[in-house]
Amino acid sequence: MVFVRTTPPRPVDVTAVFPELAPSARPAIRLHPRAGSPSVRESSVGGPLLWPVTEPWPHCEGSHPDSGFRQSPAEVRLDRRIRARLHRDPHGPALTPEEEAIRDRDAAMLGERLDAGPPWPAECPVPMLPVAQLYLRDIPLLRPPGQADLLQVLWCPYDHDPDYKPSTALFWRSAAAVVDILATPPEPYEADYPGYVPEPCLLAPEAVTEYPNSLDLSPEMQQMLGDWNRWQAADVGVESSYADYADYPEEFYDSELADAPGWKVGGWPPWGRTDPYPRYCAVCDVRMVPLLTIASFEWDGGTQSWAPYEDQAAAFAASHVAGQNPAQPTAVEVGRTDNLQLYVCPVSPEHPHTDLIQ
Ligand SMILES: [Zn+2]
Ligand SMILES: [Zn+2]
Repeated sequence: MVFVRTTPPRPVDVTAVFPELAPSARPAIRLHPRAGSPSVRESSVGGPLLWPVTEPWPHCEGSHPDSGFRQSPAEVRLDRRIRARLHRDPHGPALTPEEEAIRDRDAAMLGERLDAGPPWPAECPVPMLPVAQLYLRDIPLLRPPGQADLLQVLWCPYDHDPDYKPSTALFWRSAAAVVDILATPPEPYEADYPGYVPEPCLLAPEAVTEYPNSLDLSPEMQQMLGDWNRWQAADVGVESSYADYADYPEEFYDSELADAPGWKVGGWPPWGRTDPYPRYCAVCDVRMVPLLTIASFEWDGGTQSWAPYEDQAAAFAASHVAGQNPAQPTAVEVGRTDNLQLYVCPVSPEHPHTDLIQ
């Protein structure tokens, strides 16, 4: 890894206050995606995949309402690039010669596709977009089948019924088995939202320990969490620094101590938008476990204490220009500002995955 990100220690060791929570500790790996130029040999979000030339690129066969052309992934990326440049140099040209060349090239490619004959994409399967590529060496929490050591996640950048979310596909493979790499995979013609086009990011994986969101706890445990006297009695220093939470201890627990916000592998689900919604394997009916959380934000107003040390100056700055939010390095936005969580079967990684907006 070429860079690191470090989560500040939690303000309180929650198991010192509630030893009952100790058995619920779960390992997670925060991915800490940050803009970069990942290669096919690196773990990434929105980067190029190590995809064999001999294997067909995944396409989505779902139905895609023809709602008129929106924006191609290339246009979305170019817009972001121009916005970032104008942020650094507000008096710069509307379009540099290089950006103009990119736009002309994309327009020509798009023209060729349109010339190939309508209707596109309504009656064509849609090429999927790379979302994440995770090597086992970087993310040892992964449980691949057989000899596989690489997980690849793609999605179709349209809303799909019933929950208006991109449809996802997972592929496990052995990196050593890929000899000739597909250099230029097909791209979808358009994306339903710019937030469905991930920016290429490198990762700085960091192992953390998580505890369940309070909504995942028993009513008795929730009641205990809500008893500020119990927090005070544990003498862990909450009275001095966190007295603001005295009326809402569960909020203190959920935002500071339970599950980490942002992109992560494993751990506990980030409930709050919805009540807990257990998922069961379609093959063996076992309760599924979180694999990957695809997050709109790495942190927000309630979870700023999870911002890594290295990002705190930027995170706590007073204002950000649109599209330049340091809490949104991937530019991904799902369910507007929510998370898309992928679940897998703990019995077999080959049983089909499922996903959930939360
Ligand atoms: Zn689709
Ligand atoms: Zn199963």
